[in-house]
Formats: sequence, structure tokens, C-alpha cells
Amino acid sequence: MRTVVWFRGKDLRISDHAPLRAAVSAGEALPLFVLDPYFFAPARARQLPHRIQFLLESLAALEGNLRSRGSRLVLIEGKSVDIVPRLVESCKVDRVVAYSWVAPIGRERDRRIGEALGDRFELFEGETLQPPGTLRSGSGRPYSVFSAFSRAWLRTFAPGKPFAAPRSLPPVTGDILEQSVPMPSCEDLGIAPNPRLQRGGERAAHERLHAFLRGPAADYAEQRDRMDLDGTSRLSADLKFGTLSVRQVWAAVGETLGDTPSARAFQNELIWREFTHSSLYDRPELLQVPFHSDFQGFPWRKDEEAWEAWVAGKTGYPVVDAAARQLLAEGFVHNRARMISASFLTKHLMMEYRRGESHYMQYLTDGDWAQNNAGWQWSAGCGCDAQPYFRVFNPTTQGQKFDPNGAYVRRWVSELAKMPTKYIHSPWNAPDTILGDAGVCLGDNYPRPIVDHQQARQRYLDVAGAHLKGGRQ
Ligand SMILES: Cc1cc2nc3c(=O)[nH]c(=O)nc-3n(C[C@H](O)[C@H](O)[C@H](O)COP(=O)(O)OP(=O)(O)OC[C@H]3O[C@@H](n4cnc5c(N)ncnc54)[C@H](O)[C@@H]3O)c2cc1C
Repeated sequence: MRTVVWFRGKDLRISDHAPLRAAVSAGEALPLFVLDPYFFAPARARQLPHRIQFLLESLAALEGNLRSRGSRLVLIEGKSVDIVPRLVESCKVDRVVAYSWVAPIGRERDRRIGEALGDRFELFEGETLQPPGTLRSGSGRPYSVFSAFSRAWLRTFAPGKPFAAPRSLPPVTGDILEQSVPMPSCEDLGIAPNPRLQRGGERAAHERLHAFLRGPAADYAEQRDRMDLDGTSRLSADLKFGTLSVRQVWAAVGETLGDTPSARAFQNELIWREFTHSSLYDRPELLQVPFHSDFQGFPWRKDEEAWEAWVAGKTGYPVVDAAARQLLAEGFVHNRARMISASFLTKHLMMEYRRGESHYMQYLTDGDWAQNNAGWQWSAGCGCDAQPYFRVFNPTTQGQKFDPNGAYVRRWVSELAKMPTKYIHSPWNAPDTILGDAGVCLGDNYPRPIVDHQQARQRYLDVAGAHLKGGRQ
């Protein structure tokens, strides 16, 4: 049977790849990737420089893996909703297999392809461990509280074992290969490659996984919140682009750590990932509106100067600034720093969470519709099982607690590199002599805080309390 294996950017691997395996066992497997202008038109790609760089590296690695096993990756330019049905007709394809997507844009694409191909189009589950939409509360509704979701998830589900990559693959025959175009480079799309990004590709992903398991994994439960340590896996882009399957990560952590607090803490984060995907699957409107409808019409402020200070990492709050600069420099931000930074934008500055959400989607290598939207709605207090709206992170004490020696700030805010630890998170409290010795001139080479923490907190609580009528916890 002539089967197109349609790789779609969330499954860029050959191990534990159910559609590839299904195609191989049925006969001929034709690996395809469509360079859809939605991502690959140069103007669009330039808006997503880090994700596109990681994606292109991962595609090149996929092509190498397929070739070394006797196959090829066919690359075709155009809109997938046109290309795939046309290819099926012109190359006499019997069926197209692919992984399903949770994101609404992917579901709409698949609905249209399904309409065109009927039962020749087959989708497999695997973006998450348990298919989204499976778990329902006692009342038959989707869960909206993480702890209940997690309990149900653990009670009803045991992830299976991942399977190995095929040793060899059937060759790709001529007619389809003729349509393939060369792989574009970052430069072709007008993107200057960023050497500070994580390397894409399945092999790099496995190296990251093993480095995590050999190193910080054992102390993950205690150290995952420390912004100054490399205490987390840094696998988010791999999970986003599928250079590792979530099943491979779950299994490897369980095998290495056994039933330990760190294994449970890590697997809990993977269940958060499941929760965010399930939430978006059940409520696709979340990409447009807050989960809590009483947040609609919230009087968000418009303040371009403050927005630009937040984007550039010049708010005068060192941890918030470190997060902003890490994002632009390496397409990644530590989870704790994401929470502090998002809370600062939505609460201290009272700017709409959707603006921060799209800025993060633009620069995060791991930028993911479900997880990013959930992270922003959580931070703003309007999301599914979000942090209560009245909890406002104090960026100074958060910094002192989760970056106790100031190493995270010093790494990203070089103006403060010589500040003593006592003042690294509140340089405005330092005596002039200390500032002078550290080469810091507030208002000159490092900004004074653009808002006062107490005043900004109170302003937000007054406005939010009035808007939400104080009626919600
Ligand atoms: C404002 C905001 C925006 C975010 N945007 C994204 C995003 O676009 N893409 C993304 O993958 N994560 C996002 N997160 C969640 C989290 O910050 C990242 O997954 C994590 O920092 C990635 O680092 P890691 O791989 O070292 O995580 P680890 O701590 O090693 O966790 C392992 C994996 O679990 C998942 N995970 C961890 N924390 C969360 C969480 N809170 N919610 C959902 N899944 C989680 C990720 O897939 C992660 O790779 C966001 C969080 C916030 C607060």
C-alpha cells in the first residue's frame, strides 16, 4: 500500500513514530513535509525566528535519519490543504497518515483534508500521552481544576512503552521525489541564525534527555524553581516539535529515577502539559478569550513606554529584566522567570495578557499554543485553574528566593554583574558608594523601577477588585 507519512512539525523523529511504523508495516512509506506559507513565507518566518531555526535544524536531522535508512524526506511548497489532496491524486497514494494536533489551526486544516480525502486520511494520537478530550469529571464535563484532572489521569492511565526507530525504510520512488524542493536555510527566509539557541534534531534531543537524566534529574523536585541553576530538563522545544515523544520522556524518567519525589515532580509537569492540551482541545476559544468570562472587558492599560521597557528588559526590576533578555537572546526563559515576568506585565503594568502571550510566541523556541496560552492565563489570574487574581508576585522577594545568589540576574543583566548579592534584586536600596563600586548609575546605565511595587500592586487590586466585583476567589 502506497502511504504518505505526513510529518507536520510536532513529530520530527523516526523513533516512537506511530504513523511511520504503520506505513512501513503496510508496504511503501513516503515521508512528506509541506513548507506551508503560514510558517515559511519569509515575512512570517522572520516573525518566528527561533522556532523556524529549530524547525529547520530538526527537519535536516530528520532527512539525514531517513536517508541513512534508505528513505528520503519529500519537501513540497504550498498550502497543505491544496498540496496533500493534489499529491494523493497525482501520485496514486492509497492513504495519508499523520499525528493529530490539538491546536485549533491544525484541527481546521485536518478537517479540510479529511473532507477531501475521506477514509484515505488517518490520524494517530501521540501529541499527548492520553488523547485530549478523554477525561471527564463526574458530571461529564472537561476538568477545570488541575489536581482533579491529575488524579483522574493517574488513576485511569499508564503510558505504554515507546518503540525504537526502524532499522531500514522502503525507498521513495521517482514520481513523488520529482516534486521535492531543496530544504530552505534560515538565510533563505531572511533569518540570521542565532548560535545561542538549542540545537534542533532527534539526536540533539536524546543528548539533552540523557544529560538531564545523568545530571539534574535526581534533584529536580528541590531545584526546579531555581532560576540560577540548570535544574530543569530544557526539553520543552523537543516536546513541542516532537524530536522526542512525550512517551519517550515519561518512560526514560521513570526508568532512571524510579518512584522518587523527583520523578513524580517531573511527571507532574508532564501532566500539566496534558492538562493544557486537554483544556485547549475542549475549549478552542481560549486562544481568543479568557477562561473566566468575568475578565472580559478588563480595563487593561495601554502604555507603550512601559511595554517597550518590559520587552527590552529595562523595567528596573532585575529578575523581570533578566527574563526579557533571556527570551530575546536564547529563545528560552526559566519557568519561574516566565511566571514573574508575566505577572509583572499583567498586574504591575496592567497590560493585556494576550500581548505578552504573542510576544512569547514570537520568541520562545518552545512557543506552544496550549502551554503558552495556559501559562499567560494562569499568570494573569483569568485562566483554567489559574493563580488567584489577587496574588501579585513581588519581583524582589521572588528573586531573593529563587535566585538567592543573583547568578541568574548577573548572567542576563550585565550592568548589575558587580552588584553585591544583598542588593542584586533591589539596586535602588543600595547606598551610593555600593552602586558606585559596582559601576551602576541608576537612571543612567540601569533604569530606576518604572513602577513602585506597592503602588502598582494596589492599583491593580483596586481595579481588578472593582471589575470582578470582588466576588471571585
Ligand atoms: C507565561 C508562561 C508561558 C509559557 N509558555 C510555554 C510555551 O510556550 N511552551 C512550553 O512548552 N511551556 C510553556 N510554559 C511552561 C513552562 O514554563 C515551560 O514548559 C518550561 O519552562 C520549559 O522548561 P523545561 O523543559 O526545562 O521544563 P521542565 O521543568 O524540565 O519540565 C518538563 C516538561 O514539562 C512541561 N511543563 C513544564 N512546566 C509546565 C507548565 N507549567 N505547563 C505546561 N507544561 C509544563 C514542558 O513540556 C517541559 O518541557 C509557560 C509558562 C508560563 C508561566
